Amino acid sequence: MFVCPTCSARYPAEEPHWRCTCGSYLNWERPVRFDRDSIVRNDYSIWRYRHVLALAPGKEPVSLGEGWTPIVSVDWHGREILFKLDYLCPSGSFKDRGTAVLVSKLKAWGIEEVVEDSSGNAGASLAMYTARSGINCTIYAPASASRGKLVQIALAGARLVLVPGSREDTVQAVLKAAESTFYASHNLSPLFLEGIKTLALELAEQLGWEAPESIIIPVGNGSLALGLAAGFKLLQDAGLVSRLPRLIAVQSAACAPLAAAFNAGRDEPSPITKGLTMAEGIASKAPPRGREVLAAVRTSGGAFVTVTEEEITAAIVELAEKGLYVEPTSATAAAAFTKLTAEGYIRPGGQVVAVLTGSGLKATDKLAELFAAKLPL
Ligand SMILES: *Cc1c(COP(=O)(O)O)cnc(C)c1O
Ligand SMILES: [Zn+2]
Repeated sequence: MFVCPTCSARYPAEEPHWRCTCGSYLNWERPVRFDRDSIVRNDYSIWRYRHVLALAPGKEPVSLGEGWTPIVSVDWHGREILFKLDYLCPSGSFKDRGTAVLVSKLKAWGIEEVVEDSSGNAGASLAMYTARSGINCTIYAPASASRGKLVQIALAGARLVLVPGSREDTVQAVLKAAESTFYASHNLSPLFLEGIKTLALELAEQLGWEAPESIIIPVGNGSLALGLAAGFKLLQDAGLVSRLPRLIAVQSAACAPLAAAFNAGRDEPSPITKGLTMAEGIASKAPPRGREVLAAVRTSGGAFVTVTEEEITAAIVELAEKGLYVEPTSATAAAAFTKLTAEGYIRPGGQVVAVLTGSGLKATDKLAELFAAKLPL
């Protein structure tokens, strides 16, 4: 069941919708209970938790084996941090968790053609999963996006439309196209969030059915924050974890509408002037679910933190030197850990997980430019 948070309209799950007739995004409601005995133990993907995913019984998921990614313990300035290597998902980013559920539903609905906008990873992910399922796909992306992601989109067979200007210009372009095609928006679709929820279930299972004290996540539109909050709520309701983790949400200092609002005690994203940032995956000026994201982080007892371009640059190198090759957006989580331990916000003893969301391999052009002086190329 789709439910509109603005006008309370409801739509049946069997009908394809990407927004309410009132213009709002929709939420997904289905009473589910997480049950350890229902885990498909020999399925090492998000679909081991299919009993809480949005697919109707009997429908086959569209999958490329997403999820069940490693957790690696690293010594970081004398402190232990657990990195969740979600950049090892099939398309090279955590987005595959959400895309797999969304595309499985599109397939079940019989949708044959979709449009989507993306700074890169969501588009690359959708291009791969629509290729897998035989759905025609058009991706609108900023012309400035990392080439690795654009090549990935085009080679998967999606039509790639490059939009000059900002990420917001891309949104305007896709909304025009959405007047005549289904808009498979990862930022609006609640089904995408259903998939991200598996990150919480997986973390808890991998950590021996417990929640870490804190989880550090990069936040643009906030799918990781919302997915983790929903997933850990399911686990708490099932009596499987004794506490909820603190969500530590990281934004780039150059684009921090949620951090600004959070720290000012406001409920809605703050209007901002967006600066340039290499963290392209979180450069969202006006996150549609911003209000929900702020509430989720507050409820968790967590915090918002911003990191500068210099701090991101340092974290990229430190991660790479530990064998973790990630894109700049993902390095923000490590940069935040450095900052918060130095400030004493993260105290010794508590278990901290940072999610590494996107692969460095897709951002090689940007990284080569950034570190030109350092590279023997
Ligand atoms: C999309 C993305 C994010 C942020 O996800 P939101 O849902 O926008 O908060 C973080 N890291 C990477 C690599 C991404 O592609
Ligand atoms: Zn509505």
